[in-house]
Amino acid sequence: MDNLPQNLPEFLPGWVWLVGAGPGDVGLLTLHAAHALSQADVVVYDALVGDHILALAGPQVELEYAGKRGGKPSPRQPDISRRLVQLARDGKRVLRLKGGDPFVFGRGGEEALSLVEAGVPFRIVPGISAGVGGLAYAGIPLTHRTVNSAVTFLTGHDAAGTVPDTVDWDAVSKGSPVLVMYMALKHLDKISGKLLDAGRPETEPVALVANATLPEQHVVETTLARCVDDCAAAGLKPPAIIIVGDVVRLRDGLDWLGALNGRDLVWNPLNDKDQTLTG
Ligand code: SAH
Repeated sequence: MDNLPQNLPEFLPGWVWLVGAGPGDVGLLTLHAAHALSQADVVVYDALVGDHILALAGPQVELEYAGKRGGKPSPRQPDISRRLVQLARDGKRVLRLKGGDPFVFGRGGEEALSLVEAGVPFRIVPGISAGVGGLAYAGIPLTHRTVNSAVTFLTGHDAAGTVPDTVDWDAVSKGSPVLVMYMALKHLDKISGKLLDAGRPETEPVALVANATLPEQHVVETTLARCVDDCAAAGLKPPAIIIVGDVVRLRDGLDWLGALNGRDLVWNPLNDKDQTLTG
């Protein structure tokens, strides 16, 4: 990229930039991220950062993988943090590249705090989170004035690999008309069960969006009662974002990617008399 704005900050040796790479489509990178890729000495990247994005790195860049490999667990978080500190102390321009946004279920805060502890200077570059950009590519707005005034982002997976106790499922079920769930595919049966137990209707619309924004994006539209079976039937694999709520119905009108492939969009997707708004 030769014609980036001149006044972007210089990437100085000994610094770590913690950068979000967005959900996948290279066009969703920020200018700061593209600039950092062209200037870095070393890029430490996660599993969700694709080759098309890494291809933007300058020829001088060393690429270091810090994600899961072949079913083996990810390197431990303290090891990654130590590595970032070590590279910075060696005087490198260290680009820590993460999928989506580093501060949304991305452990960016943990890594940044370890830089603070070590006295390493750093910059944070936000990215488009999968729960925002990925759903936009599925044609699903997170809010719509006549449908919802609130949305909740949550994780379906805690550090121990189970459905998180730290989410008050009853409270979010009752209080939030739209739920956007990261890392929730594995435990979808338990999670949908908790939402149904808390009183969400069986017919409530749900969409599962795998590989959002990438050419292999796959969207399954279903309901709370059917989502587990429909997900299995579709053979959906992670990474996937799951959204629960009536905004999913807007997809009939807003699936702009589908329209590119010939889908007819309806202009009044909420006007179907059989469907009533909830939440
Ligand atoms: N920091 C990231 C989230 C990391 S947690 C962000 O802001 O997007 C990993 C989870 O993100 C995955 O399990 C999945 O739920 C979601 N995710 C990331 N990229 C995705 C993609 N391209 N398509 C669908 N889901 C994605």
